[in-house]
Amino acid sequence: RRTPLFVRLRGESDIEGGLVRRLPWLLVFRGVVATGLLFLTLAADLAQWPMGHLASVLYGVVIGTYAVVVLLGLLLKGGLSATIVAVAHLVTAVFAAVVVVHATGGVMSAFSFLYLLVILDGAIIGGRSAALAVASVASIAYGLQLTLQLYGVIATAIRLPTTSVDYINAAVTHLAAFYLTALLAGQLARQLESARRAVNSARTDLSRAELFHSAVMDSLSVGVLSVTRNGIVVSTNKAGAALLGASADDLVGAPLPDLLASFFRSGDERFETFVDVNGKRRCFGGGRSEVASVGDEGGQPMTALVVEDRTEVKALEDRLRTRERLASVGQLAASIAHELRNPLAAISGSVELLSGSTDQERAKLQGIVLREIQRLEKLVQDFLVYARPAPPQRQPLDLTRVLEELAQMVRADLQWADISLDLDLAAGIELDADPGQLHQVLLNLLRNAQEATPAGGVVHLSATAQLVGSRREVRLQVRDHGAGMPPEARAHLFEPFFTTKSQGTGLGLAVVHRVIEGHGGRVEMEDAPGGGTMATVILPA
Ligand code: ADP
Ligand code: MG
Repeated sequence: RRTPLFVRLRGESDIEGGLVRRLPWLLVFRGVVATGLLFLTLAADLAQWPMGHLASVLYGVVIGTYAVVVLLGLLLKGGLSATIVAVAHLVTAVFAAVVVVHATGGVMSAFSFLYLLVILDGAIIGGRSAALAVASVASIAYGLQLTLQLYGVIATAIRLPTTSVDYINAAVTHLAAFYLTALLAGQLARQLESARRAVNSARTDLSRAELFHSAVMDSLSVGVLSVTRNGIVVSTNKAGAALLGASADDLVGAPLPDLLASFFRSGDERFETFVDVNGKRRCFGGGRSEVASVGDEGGQPMTALVVEDRTEVKALEDRLRTRERLASVGQLAASIAHELRNPLAAISGSVELLSGSTDQERAKLQGIVLREIQRLEKLVQDFLVYARPAPPQRQPLDLTRVLEELAQMVRADLQWADISLDLDLAAGIELDADPGQLHQVLLNLLRNAQEATPAGGVVHLSATAQLVGSRREVRLQVRDHGAGMPPEARAHLFEPFFTTKSQGTGLGLAVVHRVIEGHGGRVEMEDAPGGGTMATVILPA
């Protein structure tokens, strides 16, 4: 032990509990000092020093000290107040010092350091105030000893020639040493005490934080495991152990179980897998995240794995998807039935009226029947395009020419009598597409624009080609200045049979969407700046 002082100073606290822990060590140390004294005396005895009755005094002190140490130790063990034992220890130690110093020459004694040891003990036991108290007692004892010796009241065992200056020197240096030692040791004890308190409170905070952390982890229903780079489990929460069918003790320190090991090695971000648990197929899923670095693991980066049982969620998802599919099929069927009913009603009404009608009425009724049958045909045709779109028969098209022809045809239509169609086409745009389907798309969009445009208005059709990244894109745009799409039409965008028009089928935009998707493109419907609607078709060239 390089610095027994420090070791012994590492006390717990000033209260009894701390004393009970420190006192035995102080007593043991006192025994050691007594043993040192014993050896010195024995050595002097063997060397046949002229010690007179000094030898018997010293042997007496050693034996007395042993006795006191044993007695105090037993009392302490027997439950006597540690404070009383401590005071008895200090008092007897001062007394022993007085005797030894006196026996070894008083003012000239080489053993006056024994007082210092007692002062240190005082600091260890009760901090600075106790150290100062012991220093004062030692000063009084030592001073008294000197005074009595100076005036020849008591005689020391060893007589050495002394002068009165020696006495003054001894008194000054010793008293100064006593108080300095008390102050320093007291200060040291106080610092150690506050350091110990800080460590203790940090330790309490830490263990509280650890408890809180593990309580939070264990309250989670998902399993959370931390794993070293080599796939050794460092920690797991309750759910993690339960999901992996092992105890936390078995998991920690062992390599990851197979279920997670392959995912861990794969480097994937997340996983989903089916496993047999007690003969039942269950779906496990999870993910990973890198944990920067943790001091305890020597700064080694770790991975946090999350694992959960997704069987129920999965089943729920499947049920939901089936229900959604059935619901949309049902809705579609209802819409078709609804669309078919009106023309059928008109036809059957007309047919009923046929018998007993005049030729003139008959021609009119036949006209109605024909018109309604055409409407049905158109409906079925549109619906088939939507429901079973033919795969596009792509061929290279000179888009500018195709659009110009289309515009000519549209302008000839009666419905476009009061509305002008304005073309803005970049020259020489090439596009691989199905000409029939492209025609259908543009007709549907132009028709909506025309229906939204009041008489005398303008509809714009433009086509541009541009590079996006490394791909060339063709943008076809139909823009009108009508009232814009009503919010409910926007909410049901591209939904078949949704219409706000009395004569509409609600299939126009649905067909546009289907066809363009089949070409690998997309459709955007926006409010045009300044009113109206802007329909944009974007196709990969
Ligand atoms: P339909 O034209 O038979 O109603 P669509 O699928 O072509 O069916 O259009 C669906 C709905 O979207 C229309 O009923 C209308 O409310 C809205 N819509 C489409 N295009 C326009 C447009 N250019 N301006 C305003 N509303 C539009
Ligand atoms: Mg339409």
